[in-house]
Amino acid sequence: MSRPAAFASALLLLLSLACAGDEKGVDTATSEGTEGTEGTEEPTWSYEGETGPEHWGTLSEEWSACSEGTAQSPIDLSSLASELSDLPLPEITWGETALSAYNSGHYIRYEVGAGSSLTWNGATYNLKQFHFHGLSEHTVDGERFDVEIHFVHARADDPNRYAVVAILASASPEGAVEGVFGEGGALLFPDALALPESETPTELGGTVDLGLAFADVLATPTIGTYTGSLTTPPCTEGVEFLILGTVMPMVPEEVAAFHAVYDFNYRPVQDLNGRTFHLMTESVPD
Ligand SMILES: [Zn+2]
Repeated sequence: MSRPAAFASALLLLLSLACAGDEKGVDTATSEGTEGTEGTEEPTWSYEGETGPEHWGTLSEEWSACSEGTAQSPIDLSSLASELSDLPLPEITWGETALSAYNSGHYIRYEVGAGSSLTWNGATYNLKQFHFHGLSEHTVDGERFDVEIHFVHARADDPNRYAVVAILASASPEGAVEGVFGEGGALLFPDALALPESETPTELGGTVDLGLAFADVLATPTIGTYTGSLTTPPCTEGVEFLILGTVMPMVPEEVAAFHAVYDFNYRPVQDLNGRTFHLMTESVPD
């Protein structure tokens, strides 16, 4: 599972191949989207059994995209046809923010204050929340990474359209950034992991500079993008995934602590249906 170089090399391979050649507008609070719907009674869903992923689409009429959608996430990235994109890399400007977090029973989710955004393909998206999946949802050659972090951004001029920055992370004794997740660290990960199941965010105290905390992976020279969906009900489509080409090393003890809470909150990979992986790099000529 610990293959820090695998994704980067897969991206490079894809890159070389490329060179050679709901939705109702409102998501429920427990979805991966950003809008809450107060008072809405939501069916129970899970990652296995009768309320597992293969049944999500039948648990609620509003979740039909989970079974009937044609552009769902996650997917196996190495199976996508790929091409080099003319688009420049997104400009990701995450700033300092207070954080609150909750453990929904489906994932650990951090709510982010105003002031962090990305600009890409002519639009600005504001960072609303981020959350953790273990193991990773996206795969490369069928293999999962230890952790995948989804940073959910809502489009400034159309908040029901999302761009999700995905960071793949693997346990690595070397190169892990001290203090990002660790004891007393900027993201107060142990505190978040200790939260009881609730959908009411708890203030974690202090602030964190997200741009600084994730500086190394944000400096990646390659980002892959494809159009998919939220990976939890209601599986809303039209989500722009921006998958960073640099895998983030995490302190092994922190990965273990996370897996003790969540090691099975990933959805199975979905059909590609002819979609394309567009690779953006720093070095695209004008
Ligand atoms: Zn997610």
